[in-house]
Amino acid sequence: MSTFKMDYFRTYYFTNICDSVIEDTFPYVTTLNDFWGDGKFAYFLKPFQKYSVLHQYIDFCIDRLIYEANKGLGELSIEQLKTKEFWINEALNYHKIEHETFSDWLVSANDTHNHPEDLLSEYFFDIEMSDAFSMLKYQMVEEAFYVLFLNRKFLQAFNLEMAEMFNVEHIEDFNEESIYLKKNETLKRTRIPKWAERAVFYRDRGKCTACNKDLTGLFNISNKYHIDHIIPLSANGLNDVSNLQLLCETCNTSKGGKIWATSTNYEKWY
Ligand SMILES: [Zn+2]
Repeated sequence: MSTFKMDYFRTYYFTNICDSVIEDTFPYVTTLNDFWGDGKFAYFLKPFQKYSVLHQYIDFCIDRLIYEANKGLGELSIEQLKTKEFWINEALNYHKIEHETFSDWLVSANDTHNHPEDLLSEYFFDIEMSDAFSMLKYQMVEEAFYVLFLNRKFLQAFNLEMAEMFNVEHIEDFNEESIYLKKNETLKRTRIPKWAERAVFYRDRGKCTACNKDLTGLFNISNKYHIDHIIPLSANGLNDVSNLQLLCETCNTSKGGKIWATSTNYEKWY
């Protein structure tokens, strides 16, 4: 298990947006279509991608926020733009990631005849293609994932929205991802990889999320743990680490293919 440096740059702001969008998707229908519509849902079918479906969703939300933050900048003059710290520069500076500022870029671009708006979009395009930007995105997505992955209530709501979308999206037979589907167009059950199992076991602190039974084997060796799909595969759930939780054998058997409200009980730190 590797460690990860958390700088918490506006992490709660991002996670709050990721959460509110899922809470009420209606105002974002058009925006979300770019995430999961027009055949894009196929990206979410490959079982247990380490860059999980939740990572992809956070990534999408952050991209949209960057786009929104840059709106209206084109109305400023070149002189004003040269002294302005854009949101993206602020984020890169915060994480101490070296990059080219707009005024540095202008010097190397040597093109001041263009309209400010065109220059800006060229600059942002170059930035978005840079290694600095990939590092920044990786950092921001991981930070937000860390917070959201602990929130089972959010995970359930997120996976329920995914399942509803999966239900209306038809994955075409020629799509290479169709191999992951059963005849009824739900996902085939696959073996849960060790890394995903471990993540869920430690997140849920070795306890059944429904009845709180200890499943670590420390206190009672007869309690076996099961890794359960929060939204069952039969109800269009995904094979994604964000859709897993720990259950004991008894709870798992009585849950079966049903959708249960996931537990919102957490053990206090002290
Ligand atoms: Zn249980």
